Amino acid sequence: MMSPSDELGAGSSPVESLSAPGRDPATGHPRPARREFKARGAFVTRCEGCNLPELNCLCPYQVKAESQVQVWLITHPLEHHKPTNTGRLIGDVLAPTRVFTWYRTTPDPELLDLLADERHAPFVVFPDDQPDYAHRVVNIEAVRSAAVTRIPVLILLDGTWRQARRIFRKSPYLENLPVLPLHTERLTRYRLRKPASPAHLCTAEVAAELLRQAGEGSAADILDDYFDVFNESYAASRGYEKIGEPTPAMHRLLERRA
Ligand SMILES: [Zn+2]
Repeated sequence: MMSPSDELGAGSSPVESLSAPGRDPATGHPRPARREFKARGAFVTRCEGCNLPELNCLCPYQVKAESQVQVWLITHPLEHHKPTNTGRLIGDVLAPTRVFTWYRTTPDPELLDLLADERHAPFVVFPDDQPDYAHRVVNIEAVRSAAVTRIPVLILLDGTWRQARRIFRKSPYLENLPVLPLHTERLTRYRLRKPASPAHLCTAEVAAELLRQAGEGSAADILDDYFDVFNESYAASRGYEKIGEPTPAMHRLLERRA
């Protein structure tokens, strides 16, 4: 969700790269044959651990974080297999993260059970721009106060803007939950899909920002860095470039692992 822009570009896929070997999969421009020839194998071969191109694999940077706030993703079925999906990064960092696939007519029974479990305080993360659910809108303070007695849960609707809106509107089990909008001045750093506006954050960025606002600064920092590494690594691999010097985010994550 969260990036209306998502619908503009599914990004490149290994298939596209294979079918147009001499061209940049993102721009369609011809690429220099020499370097591309060497690196292409590592771009189209995906790591089994992180599913990123082997050229710049994400595995060395996986760091677990602790957070009292949980994240559950309701992911549109068309979003699951996109290699540019950032929702999956959240589960790499926060172990209790749950991922549910959204099917309009058949809600996941496990999700319904979890929602009914009173130990959880679920919030649907969604913009507060429509009047018909204004009475359900809360702010981040509600998450902080829920944490005193229950486990706050951020429910993120993971898909394109249109898909997220559809999930929000067509899921009766979300209808009575408080709606938590993200208010931030931050701009997106996501490079893998063309943003309609720099103010539209991708799913991992939304999670990191809300975790930070909810007081989970350390988890937010780790997720932010992990997203950065994903973003830079994938973008470099698309350009058939191997990242040489570790970026500052890579350094920080490696230090945490040491
Ligand atoms: Zn990997």
